[in-house]
Amino acid sequence: MQDLRIKTYTGGEASLKSEIIEKLNQSIRGKVLTPESEQYKEARTIWNAMIDKMPSLIVRCAGAADVVRAVRFASEHKLLVAVRGGGHNIAGNAVCDGGLMIDLSPMKSVRIDAKGMTARVEPGVTLGEFDREAQAFGLATPVGINSTTGIAGLTLGGGFGWLSRKLGLTIDNLISADVVTAEGELVTASETDHPDLFWGIRGGGGNFGVVTSFEFRLHKVGPEVLAGLIVHPLDAAGDVLRFYRDFIKTTPQEFVCWFVLRLAPPLPFLPSEWHGKGILVLAVCYAGDLKEGERVAKPLRSFGKPIADIIGPMPFTAWQAVLDPLLTPGMRNYWKSHDFKEVSDGLIDTLIAHARRVPDPQTEIAFALLGEGVTKVAKEATAYTHRDAGFVLNVHGRWDNPSKDEKCIGWARELFQAAAPFATGGAYVNFMTQEEQGRVQSAYGSNYSRLAALKKKYDPNNLFRLNQNIQPGK
Ligand SMILES: Cc1cc2nc3c(=O)[nH]c(=O)nc-3n(C[C@H](O)[C@H](O)[C@H](O)COP(=O)(O)OP(=O)(O)OC[C@H]3O[C@@H](n4cnc5c(N)ncnc54)[C@H](O)[C@@H]3O)c2cc1C
Repeated sequence: MQDLRIKTYTGGEASLKSEIIEKLNQSIRGKVLTPESEQYKEARTIWNAMIDKMPSLIVRCAGAADVVRAVRFASEHKLLVAVRGGGHNIAGNAVCDGGLMIDLSPMKSVRIDAKGMTARVEPGVTLGEFDREAQAFGLATPVGINSTTGIAGLTLGGGFGWLSRKLGLTIDNLISADVVTAEGELVTASETDHPDLFWGIRGGGGNFGVVTSFEFRLHKVGPEVLAGLIVHPLDAAGDVLRFYRDFIKTTPQEFVCWFVLRLAPPLPFLPSEWHGKGILVLAVCYAGDLKEGERVAKPLRSFGKPIADIIGPMPFTAWQAVLDPLLTPGMRNYWKSHDFKEVSDGLIDTLIAHARRVPDPQTEIAFALLGEGVTKVAKEATAYTHRDAGFVLNVHGRWDNPSKDEKCIGWARELFQAAAPFATGGAYVNFMTQEEQGRVQSAYGSNYSRLAALKKKYDPNNLFRLNQNIQPGK
């Protein structure tokens, strides 16, 4: 190993002698990587190809003790620190230029306690890996809708998916977490142990420490759910979405339907004459009795003249991965997001108008239903504050050629502006880009000052600053 120049969080640079780096490497079970190391490229590459950052040092952690060591090392040398879980976050804060990256992706253990209906999950685990282990016992907890997303970043920002309307956010099912604080202490946070920290990590992102283990409550789910897609022409989207927003109010909490506006991908279940044309996709999941699900979904399936309807019983784990082919890593991605209380006429018209000039076949407008499981929780109960918003829009700009950056980003920003009058003003931190630091206060709303005080207590020097950052309070 060679001597290194490495960025500090004070804005300067530190010089690290090769012996110091070697000593760090010797002191961990995992491995220290430098730009010369074989695994360096893989470790610094994340889901969003727009992020191309070069850390000076990567500590690949094998366990909590390695995380303690890495955090103490960073603290001692005042290093700029990035923390990587699943590497999916759009903002790309999992990596940094010139600093130290704490890479948790090798920490892959999942242990299910089927009797107690709980799970112990390490921070390098992806949603698909977690679902697979829990579903071996017919159990699950609400997580996101793409199997390759990391459980760590998703949970720390809130986390929602097909089960949230009934079972709440991922954080609403968090029992405890082991956290390495900025001082390098490993503590457990729960309702009874460091309850202030437990409150903060449920929505406050990676601001307060590095989580080395999550303990979740599990629920009986599946193993089969009734799920699938209903596809309509974009020209019918206005009528279908007006029906959808009224229909959804009549359905039980087991029923969830998100929608997507995009150009039809060349998937085998879509007639070829529709490929490349504008469509509305209703993504439906009923996690309950399959026959009852058929009955509940019937009016939605009978409405209008769909191009395709592929709803049927399927394993929950398969449904959790069904959108993966449209969300592969390595593409350029730019997201904009709003929260909504309702699906108003004005919003529907705005979404459709922008769907008509979507700038790339991979770009989509995704609209998530969170529902009662999320909104019933008090906004002060956890750091995630926007409990009044039952819907979240994700303007998902996605393309592969850098020459389209301006066009695709411009389109996403325009739609974001046009949809703003119908939105609550809140924001989901997990959908925010790097340039949206100015939205962090509104993302935490009335919880912000409590979070700032907590940040001062647990991370007064803002060691964990590469995130949707909460500034330490005065
Ligand atoms: C294709 C795709 C689909 C998605 N679908 C959903 C969805 O359905 N529902 C939903 O709620 N969200 C969804 N998301 C958003 C997702 O929740 C965020 O991107 C989340 O941050 C990903 O977590 P990660 O661990 O993979 O990311 P990373 O980029 O590794 O981490 C994100 C940030 O979290 C912090 N962090 C990560 N691990 C730790 C840790 N152990 N301790 C402390 N801080 C840590 C760091 O600040 C890091 O920068 C989706 C994202 C993508 C790309």
